[in-house]
Amino acid sequence: MENDYYDAKETMSVKERELYLNKRLKDTVAYAYQNAPAFKEKMDRASVTPDQINTVKDLEKIPITRKDDFSEYQKANPPLGGFLAVPKPKTIFVSPGPIYEPEDYDEQFEICAKALYATGFRPGDIAIITFSFHMVPAGIRMAETLTRLGITWVPMGVGNTEIQLEVLRDLKVTCYVGTPSFLGLIIKRAEELGYDFRRDFHLKHAWFIAEMLSPSLRQSFEQDYGLSVAQGYGTAEHGTLAYECLQKSGMHIPEELIVEIVDPQTGRQLGPGEVGEVIVTPFNEIFPLIRYGTGDLSSYITEPCPCGRTSYRLTGVLGRVGEEVKARGMFIHPRQLQEVMSRFDQISRFQVVVSLHDNADVITINIELKDDTIDKKQLSSSLMKDFQNLCRVRPDKVEIIARGTIPEGSKAILDQRVWK
Ligand SMILES: [Zn+2]
Repeated sequence: MENDYYDAKETMSVKERELYLNKRLKDTVAYAYQNAPAFKEKMDRASVTPDQINTVKDLEKIPITRKDDFSEYQKANPPLGGFLAVPKPKTIFVSPGPIYEPEDYDEQFEICAKALYATGFRPGDIAIITFSFHMVPAGIRMAETLTRLGITWVPMGVGNTEIQLEVLRDLKVTCYVGTPSFLGLIIKRAEELGYDFRRDFHLKHAWFIAEMLSPSLRQSFEQDYGLSVAQGYGTAEHGTLAYECLQKSGMHIPEELIVEIVDPQTGRQLGPGEVGEVIVTPFNEIFPLIRYGTGDLSSYITEPCPCGRTSYRLTGVLGRVGEEVKARGMFIHPRQLQEVMSRFDQISRFQVVVSLHDNADVITINIELKDDTIDKKQLSSSLMKDFQNLCRVRPDKVEIIARGTIPEGSKAILDQRVWK
């Protein structure tokens, strides 16, 4: 599998890559200025013209569009915030926030194809997709990508481990696309049912995104179950932004977009090894979100990768610029939590805690009550329901704790996860 690449761009020389990216950037900025009114307005306000953007370094002249501001843009200029650059979207997806996005751009499928190819997916394989096929783009995006690669796909969606196992067995499925924790659950269920996973199933490759792959889970997939596994990094608005090769030494930044690592305060680009915010400029002619601030913190490395791909690599997500916390693949915003809690005037203080148990996220809602005599069971169940409806992720439990336990002014959401 070494020296086998999805396309020739993955191994361009540093100089070729620089020229290629500069050219694509110039074209994308000129196109977006012409076709996306919100981008033109942003450029005009900053007194920047497209002909001033000739290199990746020139991107510093363009103000960053922040994820946090994006739902405001969309409220002011519905439905897509003035960033749509085609006459009519074919599809509108709904991501947490809510943030609306049109269909994926062609280059996004190329990026995902590169990611799967680097994991070992090949034409003739058969894959299950265990991402959701409604509201969010993930399921449909992966389906289109697998078609492009000549791989048969089965739209399994989320949940139902026993049916997943039947399908894996009956169709001799070789590839998995989804979150690492869910594959862990499927394998665990197989073993509970008396299967020998390695012997009784044909799974060889697994690709993960939307949830961090812990080193211990990776090791188990590889050593206990003989799988080749790799993960991608992405955002709801842009899809996949970087992907691992089997060297597992960072995530390659594909040739279909530009990633800058910047100081979140100044927007200035940082050098290799420095931690800053991930800013994305995709070569997207449908929804050109140029200089989009993801709020994720990362750094990049420039040393050549033993796999032979020449792109710079991201070192993974090192944290969040803001306060949002991602649990089970969904961002939970403090703002969303305020909204949920405002529906329960019996609650005096709250804090949501995300912890890790057996490599899976556990979401606990800690609450303090104004009055201890109320029906706690009823309150907990309504709170769980409203939380799930608003945040689009199911909490694991509600804990009613003594008044005064949550300090005044503490974070609405606390991330206690440590990956080891
Ligand atoms: Zn590599």
